Amino acid sequence: MNRTSGRAKAALAASTLTLLLTAVLLAACGNGESTTATSNNVGEASSSQGGITDPATVSSDPVTDSGNPDEAVSSDGTSGASPSANTGITDPGTSTESPPVSGTGGGSPPASGEAQPDQAVATDPDSIAVLVNKQLGLPKDYEPKDLVYPDVTFTFKEKIEKRMMRKEAAEALEEMFAGAKKDGIYLAGVSGYRSYARQKALFESYVKKDGEEKAKTYSAVPGYSEHETGLAIDVSGSDGKCAAEDCFADTEEAAWIAKHAHEYGFIVRFPKGKEDITGYKYEAWHIRFVGKEIAKDIAERGITLEEYYNAIPVSK
Ligand SMILES: [Zn+2]
Repeated sequence: MNRTSGRAKAALAASTLTLLLTAVLLAACGNGESTTATSNNVGEASSSQGGITDPATVSSDPVTDSGNPDEAVSSDGTSGASPSANTGITDPGTSTESPPVSGTGGGSPPASGEAQPDQAVATDPDSIAVLVNKQLGLPKDYEPKDLVYPDVTFTFKEKIEKRMMRKEAAEALEEMFAGAKKDGIYLAGVSGYRSYARQKALFESYVKKDGEEKAKTYSAVPGYSEHETGLAIDVSGSDGKCAAEDCFADTEEAAWIAKHAHEYGFIVRFPKGKEDITGYKYEAWHIRFVGKEIAKDIAERGITLEEYYNAIPVSK
């Protein structure tokens, strides 16, 4: 009897330890999947699409952000693979040091891998730390209330929608461009804010041209593009070379951004090697304002916004 209960105790202790270890690991990595994602992409060229499990999210660059900034649309496509565990994720509201949010208990195991068609809507779209991705969208009628024209160089002259950003992000962008200039790096905006209506029009034109299934492989479904938050912008060098194209990754401007963006509250939103988590291929040009504290944390830990929130990989 003693032996039995001793064994039971040992087993209990062991399982408690396992739980603790799991918790520690989750806390440390944010997401157990990151290792896999990284190893999938070891040694990949910047232009590669490797590691993305959803073939629909890649390829067909001609109509994505790449090459046609005017019509720039993130290479979204809502893969049907949406772990349901993401639903209900709330964001912490502000750029304070709120811990990663896990509305539905972060750390829940990745869903079976089977697609969940449901997509959720961010509960606080006005937060500068809002998480928007292929599963977490914006309310249909969402429109940022504080859009302004950042006083920086763009690759075009017109005062049009895509030149705008939310005020706080716009000011940070101005600071960042000024900081870059001091280092001899001349940046330019390519495409900032995009309204739901514009995203919808774009998406529908693609559907007309290619059919919905194919359109989804290269265009964001309206409501799910981070550009709709007014907090994201595609940038290039002031010569506009490689604007929103893979070759931008090899420029000195991209190197500067990768190194310094967080000092101004921006993150490179779709980093190399994290394709499985963000659901997007590496985009050296797409930066997202999240505020200095979160940006610093994310940069130092080498994680994504999804991992910061302990969210489930998007394209799993
Ligand atoms: Zn973008």
